[in-house]
Amino acid sequence: MTTFYPGPSKVYPQVAQYLQDAFAEGILSVNHRSPECMEITRGAIEGLHQKLHIPDDYFIYFVSSATESWEIIAQSLTMQESLHIYNGAFGEKWADYAEKLVPKVERVTFNIEELPDLKQIKSGGDVVCITQNETSNGTQIKDLIPFRDVFPEAIIAVDATSSLGGIALDWQQGDVWFASIQKCLGLPAGMAIMVCSPKAIQRAEQINDRKYYNSLLFIHDNFQKFQTHYTPNVLNIYLLNKIMADINDITILSEKIKLQAHHWYNFFDKNAAVQTKVCATKPLIQNPEVRSDTVITIEGNESQIKDIKNITKANGITIGNGYGSWKNTTFRIANFPAIEENEIVALEELLTK
Ligand SMILES: *Cc1c(COP(=O)(O)O)cnc(C)c1O
Repeated sequence: MTTFYPGPSKVYPQVAQYLQDAFAEGILSVNHRSPECMEITRGAIEGLHQKLHIPDDYFIYFVSSATESWEIIAQSLTMQESLHIYNGAFGEKWADYAEKLVPKVERVTFNIEELPDLKQIKSGGDVVCITQNETSNGTQIKDLIPFRDVFPEAIIAVDATSSLGGIALDWQQGDVWFASIQKCLGLPAGMAIMVCSPKAIQRAEQINDRKYYNSLLFIHDNFQKFQTHYTPNVLNIYLLNKIMADINDITILSEKIKLQAHHWYNFFDKNAAVQTKVCATKPLIQNPEVRSDTVITIEGNESQIKDIKNITKANGITIGNGYGSWKNTTFRIANFPAIEENEIVALEELLTK
């Protein structure tokens, strides 16, 4: 079965073998404070630094999900107010989670065809929350430099769940980055990566939150020894370690993903004009400057979308449903690195029949 679902998504094919290896090597039963486990954790972190070009002075932690990262940011990094700038369902959910935990949440929404107009924002937010790639509608914010310019004092927190591991990210422009691993990183669900700048850790120390099992400083202290304060998802850390060793450098991966995205958008732009199954569907996002490279969202009328979903399903290919208000009028195609060329060709052939 082939899946283009944008999360949980296709895992790298070699995961099958690595699962067997993990069992055979006894990894599934090792103590999480054992030298073996510390070594796997150290290796996975080193692999992330190397392959994804995460700066040496940025800290990397493993937590359970992107959702948990939202809470950690609210608990451990927000003093008075978080500012949420978003245009879709995941950005909104983040603000909803933060609202339960921080004294003040400010929301600024923007149009899906545009970038946010930062100069208009009068904010006292000490954390600025941005969804780099909005999985629900297939938009992205490519350049984060303007956020640093407009909010120089703030901690810039970036949800990169559906782009981290697929495209090159400008790490220095953010203080906290996070992604669960079941999307662009092509691994089984159940873990997330959190990346923090020295500035973020200084902020955490200033706030000094140690009330929760997942208070950032607790996590930080334990990771200095490549350990966790609870029993972590050792299998996923093991798989991440292996996959980081396998994948190409992010500059190569990123180039490939961007070319492929260009190809997908072209395919739907072009096919809208001719008599095929996808005739009269078009990319939801028309502005190339804000189109996602990793989640391609295609819009059409309800019966067309239903038709396309049925046909792909009957042929053993899963495409992503629309999300939220676009549930019935769009479908989504994950453009993640674990998906192979021949799978893309098969989907295109099916859609042009
Ligand atoms: C999937 C997704 C999440 C939630 O991830 P979980 O692993 O379910 O917590 C958060 N943000 C974005 C942008 C996502 O795509």
